[in-house]
Amino acid sequence: MIIDLHAHSDASDGTDSPAELVRTAAAADVGVLAITDHDTTGGWVEAAKARPPLMTLIRGAEFSTQVTVDGRSASVHLLGYLFDAQDPVIVEEQARLKQERRRRGLAIVERMVADGLPISAEQVLGIAGNAPVGRPHIGRALVASGVVTSVDEAFATLLAGQAKYFVPKVDTDLGTAVRMISAAGGASVLAHPRGRGERRVLTSDFIGKLAVEGLAGLEVNHPDHDRAERAELKEIATRHGLLGTGSSDYHGSNKQLRIGQESTAPAVLTALIERTSGITVPLGPVGRAR
Ligand code: AMP
Ligand code: ZN
Repeated sequence: MIIDLHAHSDASDGTDSPAELVRTAAAADVGVLAITDHDTTGGWVEAAKARPPLMTLIRGAEFSTQVTVDGRSASVHLLGYLFDAQDPVIVEEQARLKQERRRRGLAIVERMVADGLPISAEQVLGIAGNAPVGRPHIGRALVASGVVTSVDEAFATLLAGQAKYFVPKVDTDLGTAVRMISAAGGASVLAHPRGRGERRVLTSDFIGKLAVEGLAGLEVNHPDHDRAERAELKEIATRHGLLGTGSSDYHGSNKQLRIGQESTAPAVLTALIERTSGITVPLGPVGRAR
């Protein structure tokens, strides 16, 4: 059975609606799917309604965080699973991040417009709809306006972190986010802890400290990780008693990834569920192991 614990809908920056995401997963033989939109639980209800009886849905989110280790900073994504979506601290932080993403997205657009690129704030906000604004929404505006031919191309050029249009956003402190997810009854897993160079600041020693603070696992098998990175992460996970997951990070047509192209072992899923308090439960056949 394919267990894919990282996928995005158009509640954030994927292109499938939550219902389409669930259907796409079912058609690809994914038996357990986690919906993990960036900084929002806005897709949970629609995904739950669309869940086929034989599929298990794990409700989660991908939290935007930042960290500084030994004077080096990085933006790090943290997957949170089965936490209480009504937890006041999480509700408040997600509301702040939504505002922050809007401010930052519009600042990027403003720089592009000032440079003569034929996109507009209204266009990007229209593409984002109710989702927290992300660079992929700007990428789609750039594709629609004929500036680039794909979102991938936009990320490789105009939307890159080194591009002159880039504007950072103020994310949640990583340690704070780990504790916040635990306090809300959930379990946290570092998303793609290698993949991009800056994430090398996440040393084994630092990951060990996060484990002490409540981190449950590392995303070991991710499309951005090569063989050596997977081996290294597996070793770090073993050293610190962390779970090692595998997931696609599917984004619909925004990224060239197949849903279910990476999978998590059933025993790891069981252990992950055991790390949660039961406020939010898996929906479907793979229930709580306790
Ligand atoms: P942002 O969160 O606004 O900084 O945008 C970065 C996010 O865009 C990443 O977390 C990815 O999940 C997503 N993304 C979607 N499509 C792409 C792509 N083609 N290349 C890189 N990132 C992408
Ligand atoms: Zn993701």
